[in-house]
Amino acid sequence: MVLESKILTAKEWKGYKSRPFLIAGPCSAESEEQVMATAREVAQIKDISVFRAGIWKPRTRPNSFEGVGTEGLKWLRAVKQETGLMVGIEVANEKHVYEALKYGIDMLWIGARTSVNPFTVQEISDALSGVDVMVLVKNPINPDLELWIGAIERIAKAGITRLGAIHRGFSAYEKSVYRNHPNWQLPIELRRRIPDLPIICDPSHISGARQYLYEISQKALDLNFDGLMIESHIDPERALSDSAQQLTPNDLKELLSRLILRNPVASDPKLLDILGELRQQIDIFDDSLVEILEKRMQVAETIGKYKKENNITILQPTRWDEIIRKVMVNGRSRGLSSELIDTIFKAIHQESINHQMRIMNNGIAESEENS
Ligand code: PEP
Ligand code: MN
Repeated sequence: MVLESKILTAKEWKGYKSRPFLIAGPCSAESEEQVMATAREVAQIKDISVFRAGIWKPRTRPNSFEGVGTEGLKWLRAVKQETGLMVGIEVANEKHVYEALKYGIDMLWIGARTSVNPFTVQEISDALSGVDVMVLVKNPINPDLELWIGAIERIAKAGITRLGAIHRGFSAYEKSVYRNHPNWQLPIELRRRIPDLPIICDPSHISGARQYLYEISQKALDLNFDGLMIESHIDPERALSDSAQQLTPNDLKELLSRLILRNPVASDPKLLDILGELRQQIDIFDDSLVEILEKRMQVAETIGKYKKENNITILQPTRWDEIIRKVMVNGRSRGLSSELIDTIFKAIHQESINHQMRIMNNGIAESEENS
């Protein structure tokens, strides 16, 4: 997919120092002292390009700290002057954009609660028309890749060339150790759909707790993300928002020093040969998997015909229970995770039901209709 405006790679961004592109700073700007003290220490960490701070805070419940507003923009202007770091804030409407531009903010990000709303994203895009500023679009709260891409396309239409995405995880009803589910397959698919778009990972909002920041950051680097945005506060325990996930600048420095940066592409010809052969094997296995699935569905369709003739329901719960138990035991004994077996076999079972439904309702399978 090609976006309407030419977008720059992360390497071409103003202030790019090295991979990963680093953005750090407090969840919220709280006071001039807190902002300046954090910024002075963050500026000492090698390779940080942008100092972030939320000025208007989207909070789940009212009566929480909702940000200091325009006053904080003056503090960020001072950070820029004193430390030379670029500065970035969240914008959630056109007023925020105009205020940010008035105070020389270098980077704007669209938050997860805003990128869900095409009206608001369009309003922000209109306010950005013809402006040269860096804009990063966070994923919407719900795992909807089309909505995320739609928001990116709207911003690209304004002519923004320093454009990127931020992966901050997705809300889910089920409890998990992370505050927001990473659902890594979404940013991976985003990369496939818009290969040139820089993607930054936000381990802070995925983790929700300091102890997971390192593993999420390392995973993002191993998945070839272009950068990281990590929340850092001079005194995390007393932070007015997201206290549990913020790091002191010192701890941030230590975390960054432990990250391992691997090469995105192999260049050694011997290694390329070995990888090439192994990939051929993978391709052969993938082809076999698809063929086996086709054969399995053909048998399911035959079963469907018998069910139809004998007036039996498609879903046979005892048989399904027997299948899932058997493959779980088999899978586990072969070192496959229960999660994988569960996901794959639920999908296969659903596909079998779909094939049988077509047989029941039309008398012919779609594959026959299409042939
Ligand atoms: C933030 O970055 O502080 C923030 C509010 O993020 P999100 O929109 O990802 O929740
Ligand atoms: Mn936050």
